[in-house]
Amino acid sequence: MRAAAQVGDAFEVTLDDGAIMTARRLLVATGLVDELPNIRGLRERWGRDVLHCPYCHGWEVRDQAVGVLATEPRAVHMALLFRQLTSDVVLFTHTGPELTDEESEELAARDIRIIAGVVESIEVEDDRLSGVRLQDGTVVARQAVVVTPRFVARSEMLRSLGIKATPHPMGIGDFIATDAMGRTSVPGDQGWPSFIATGDQLVQRRTEAGQRRQIPQLIEHQDVARQ
Ligand SMILES: Cc1cc2nc3c(=O)[nH]c(=O)nc-3n(C[C@H](O)[C@H](O)[C@H](O)COP(=O)(O)OP(=O)(O)OC[C@H]3O[C@@H](n4cnc5c(N)ncnc54)[C@H](O)[C@@H]3O)c2cc1C
Repeated sequence: MRAAAQVGDAFEVTLDDGAIMTARRLLVATGLVDELPNIRGLRERWGRDVLHCPYCHGWEVRDQAVGVLATEPRAVHMALLFRQLTSDVVLFTHTGPELTDEESEELAARDIRIIAGVVESIEVEDDRLSGVRLQDGTVVARQAVVVTPRFVARSEMLRSLGIKATPHPMGIGDFIATDAMGRTSVPGDQGWPSFIATGDQLVQRRTEAGQRRQIPQLIEHQDVARQ
């Protein structure tokens, strides 16, 4: 999908090959882009041993040597979460905000070591993450690294509808603002807000499973009412 436009009550979608399709409603599920910190070797390990979520990957790295890379305020919380899964967690302060006394106490209470300094690269041996190199040349042996990406909804193709991603209230990236049912304010068929965004477009945690299930129902209900 390259672009979308409104024509009367309907939407016209232009595909990459120039073909145009028409629909009464649009359900857009083009996901998001994970913007990662610019650290040599990090992107290549993304989704393997560079991770972002204790619930998605925590079990696989249980009891391993984990390093949490601070780039924003939630790094301390992330370190504490991963500490539930392994006793060997360190926090690299990197470009994160200065730790408060309370945060330092929380980390100390859980034996999470704080390593000051900017991270330069991710070290790899035999296709496995083996350590984290700081700018001063120190290498800290690690088996997995946790980062928090910026989540940016893929929305370029929606600009022609006047929709663009805006900053998420939790500061985790840019998302497409909708109502609780996933509807944007773009009016469509019979004046209903007909353009619907779903999945990671809304930045994951705003759409719980229940709501995702409601979206097809909502489209169906609108069709029933229309007929
Ligand atoms: C490393 C990693 C591990 C994860 N592990 C877990 C896990 O264990 N459990 C869990 O619940 N979640 C996990 N997640 C999150 C999960 O992957 C996402 O929440 C989920 O994939 C979101 O689905 P989506 O359909 O919104 O987007 P996506 O899965 O990103 O799908 C979007 C699709 O749209 C396509 N697309 C993009 N632009 C266009 C365009 N212009 N036109 C047409 N098509 C387009 C893309 O090619 C893609 O196929 C993980 C995420 C990552 C990055």
